[in-house]
Amino acid sequence: MNPLYAAMPTTIFETMSARARASGAINLGQGFPDSGWPDDVLDTAAAALRHGYNQYPPMSGTPELRAAIAAHYAHHQGVTLDPASEITVTSGATEALAAALLALIDRGDEVVLFQPLYDAYLPLVLRAGGVPRLVRLSPPHWQFDAAALAHAFTPRTKVVLINNPLNPSASTFDRASLELLAGFVAERGAVLIADEVWEHVVFDGARHVSVLEIPALRDCSVKIGSAGKIFALTGWKVGWMCAAPHLTSVLARAHQFLTFTTPPNLQAGVAMGLGKDKGWFAAMRAGFQRSRDRLAAGLVAGGYTLLPSAGTWFMSIDLAASGIPHDDVTAADRLLAAGVATIPNSAFYAEDAVTTTLRLCFAKADATLDAAIAKMVAALPGLRG
Ligand code: PMP
Ligand code: GLN
Repeated sequence: MNPLYAAMPTTIFETMSARARASGAINLGQGFPDSGWPDDVLDTAAAALRHGYNQYPPMSGTPELRAAIAAHYAHHQGVTLDPASEITVTSGATEALAAALLALIDRGDEVVLFQPLYDAYLPLVLRAGGVPRLVRLSPPHWQFDAAALAHAFTPRTKVVLINNPLNPSASTFDRASLELLAGFVAERGAVLIADEVWEHVVFDGARHVSVLEIPALRDCSVKIGSAGKIFALTGWKVGWMCAAPHLTSVLARAHQFLTFTTPPNLQAGVAMGLGKDKGWFAAMRAGFQRSRDRLAAGLVAGGYTLLPSAGTWFMSIDLAASGIPHDDVTAADRLLAAGVATIPNSAFYAEDAVTTTLRLCFAKADATLDAAIAKMVAALPGLRG
């Protein structure tokens, strides 16, 4: 057996969802919405299933979805992509991450990563033979500076992996940060993989800046997107990689022996959805922002201290500032016993980091959020003891 997998626990998301199901707890752990998806996207996929979209589509994705992705980013981010040579449709962002890391890393290559990091990153980098170089980001701003990058980059740096907006810190990197990073990427001739699955879920009037909008990064970056996040359909697992032709041709080789293709009827639904007008995306964001504010207001009124959330479906409790003297794993166990599942943020660190923040998913109906608030506020005195 491969020792990496043999020694690995089940992901925290699966674990906490299973515990929530078993105990009947309200699940604010794993990130999935319980409402808010567009019916016309579902109808389009359902109709496609009945109208011949059932055999292997082209390996890089259906022409209609690749055209829709290109048109979408032209419209929303001012980025020009050639659907034929710069887009590869994958089975979710997870497959895109795996394909990109397998395609770009050779044994011994150094990979710069920023933590907290999404839990799939490190195992994928290590299995691909990469040597991780970690930059630790700190609350409340979760930003890097030139000194941190200078420490992480070496002549052996081949790949950089960034997540923007960042799960679980719910923070974003702005254009100036991306331009700073671009200087280091260019100096080392590295490739930047940008996991931008949360690109549309940004709040308070902010606008996401894609790496493809930065001229110095346009042709040395792989941008990863996911329909699961854009349309609140996490089970669909439709994602994509956007990159210059010389990168895309190699990415497609890795993709062809992972999943090869992605269900064509789902691609039809996503293609339709990406063409929605800007008003739909603004309303989607506003809906999640309202949910964020509802959960935050209830928890703060009940005595919790929270870290800010500028994007994603997540925000975190600051345990120490909330008067809870436990680490995140202990606090998550206690809250589960009180009827609410959460995610301890230590799952997003490479080392055996003890963290004192707990992630909550607010992409839920008002009644679900209100019930969770009531249970969490009632549990707070016990958590403090
Ligand atoms: N990257 C990040 C940062 C994520 O948060 C997620 C899912 N929450 C993924 C990748 C995986 O996306 P998908 O379900 O499309 O594989
Ligand atoms: N990305 C989701 C989250 O952050 C979980 C995805 C998964 O369960 N693999 O909650």
